[in-house]
Amino acid sequence: MTKFRPKYIAIRNVVGSSKISPNPPSPFGSWIGYWEAIYRDTHGFSSPIRPAYECPFCGTTRPTSEIVGGHVQKVDEDDQHWYIFPICSACNKDNDKETQILYESQDLLIPVPSNLIITEEEENQLETED
Ligand SMILES: [Zn+2]
Repeated sequence: MTKFRPKYIAIRNVVGSSKISPNPPSPFGSWIGYWEAIYRDTHGFSSPIRPAYECPFCGTTRPTSEIVGGHVQKVDEDDQHWYIFPICSACNKDNDKETQILYESQDLLIPVPSNLIITEEEENQLETED
């Protein structure tokens, strides 16, 4: 049986991710730094965000300095994982955006380590401490 392979998959920017998963793994200073390192380790070739990159949410080509590691999910009930995906800093602030990426571009989805995602319980605790 041939499995249907879509040309595109949909991803969405996760709402409230800066609160739930604020810090990248040590020693990385930013999520895009983490993303680039893992991408290079996994795929062994140079980073697709240099010197410029087309943001999948707004379709604008921007210099590397304006690209950040956005938290995204696949719009797919079966996959609840959180991923880091390169997007522009403007789109990263505009939560709950949705877009289609090429099926092959799933290579760019780098999983967020699950221990770095704050649970709802921990989040409530943070709020009471404020
Ligand atoms: Zn954008």
